[in-house]
Amino acid sequence: VAQEQVVVVGAGAAGLAVAAMLRRGGVEPLMLERTDRVGSSWRSRYDSLRLNTPRFTSTLPGYRMPRRYGRWPGRDDVVEYLDEYARRELLRIQFGTELKRIERGDAGMAEGGASAPRWLLDTSEGEIAAPFVVLATGHDAKPKLPEWPGRAEFGGELIHSAAYRNPEPFRGKEVLVVSSRNTGSEIAFELASGDDCRVWVSMRTPPNVFPREWLGYPLNYTTVLLDRLPNAVIDQSGFLIQRMIYGDLAEHGIPRAPQGVQSETKQRHVSALIDAGFVGALKQGKLELVAAVERFDGTEAVLVDGTRLRPQAVIAATGYERNLPAIVGHLGVLDEFGVPALNGKQLRFREHPQAPGLFFNGYYASAAGQLRFMRTDGRRIARAITRAMRST
Ligand SMILES: Cc1cc2nc3c(=O)[nH]c(=O)nc-3n(C[C@H](O)[C@H](O)[C@H](O)COP(=O)(O)OP(=O)(O)OC[C@H]3O[C@@H](n4cnc5c(N)ncnc54)[C@H](O)[C@@H]3O)c2cc1C
Repeated sequence: VAQEQVVVVGAGAAGLAVAAMLRRGGVEPLMLERTDRVGSSWRSRYDSLRLNTPRFTSTLPGYRMPRRYGRWPGRDDVVEYLDEYARRELLRIQFGTELKRIERGDAGMAEGGASAPRWLLDTSEGEIAAPFVVLATGHDAKPKLPEWPGRAEFGGELIHSAAYRNPEPFRGKEVLVVSSRNTGSEIAFELASGDDCRVWVSMRTPPNVFPREWLGYPLNYTTVLLDRLPNAVIDQSGFLIQRMIYGDLAEHGIPRAPQGVQSETKQRHVSALIDAGFVGALKQGKLELVAAVERFDGTEAVLVDGTRLRPQAVIAATGYERNLPAIVGHLGVLDEFGVPALNGKQLRFREHPQAPGLFFNGYYASAAGQLRFMRTDGRRIARAITRAMRST
């Protein structure tokens, strides 16, 4: 069994942030990454994707995103940034190594002679023991595809949005995009902009809708400032702002969301619709909102209101799941959404009382975006670990 002091799992933004801050604090963590590159999830996202949180609030600790990326960095900018970040911070990353499960080890002797709890990491490349482990395997680790009846027999093409790259393969087709949230609305708008696609957008629950910026001001700054306030305050401000910007969207088929933006993000882990052109296209009749998908029947999608559509392609922007349940589900530290939680609240940078030495970064969901918290929590986790190591 290999011995390490600190292991950070996942070389995406969240893992890199913690590892860099540990290194700057004099601790040399080992990073494990299952793929062969840093930032693997951003490398596989669609061509036109841009951050919907501004560069300023999306940057990692210690090295800012370059100004040349503009206010809304694109996918390739983010990939370049993560590459450069790992290079500058001289991080020690063991690629091609997947963490499968973590078990409690016996209390062992930490450096300096004091007794410390140990975690045993079962990885694809063998076992590692460490008193401190930081999990940063991603809030959006696994594409989630609903088990619609008849899905396997559907006669058209059906993909998850994780496999979507650009509109090319869909030109001239009738496409059903399932979900009107962030990714679904962006893909639908992109397809509809080409004028050679018929686009239906299946909406189950009306989303909260906001543009990236309003009168030149990024709305994300407001959600960041308000993040500590009770959910209800942000929810109500959100409804008010949406109304001021768009008027009554019910006229265009989007009634008021049943839950406000912060409650929905924090309690159900779903995003708002960040409008990058979707609402305009809807108003112009370039895309059509339809009811939720109930099942597939041969070449048809059957909706909950009984409508039958015959799309040649279906793009399911139905979200992602965490992969933590397989890794730490047995430790009793996760909630029903597979994120670390304590007393019914998302657990951020602190240890769970039942799992000392085990930290999580990147799983906190808030309307203010996630990257911002990877920066602040990355610093806090690194500080907590360095302090604990010094005291042993
Ligand atoms: C389409 C999309 C757009 C987004 N846009 C924004 C935005 O604008 N602003 C924002 O703040 N957030 C955004 N997010 C959310 C999130 O902040 C970013 O995706 C962020 O880059 C995630 O970083 P991460 O390090 O937590 O996860 P990831 O980037 O997913 O990194 C996790 C890493 O862990 C590795 N890994 C996973 N499991 C294991 C294992 N068992 N063993 C070893 N390695 C493992 C993976 O290969 C991966 O490299 C977006 C998410 C999506 C899906």
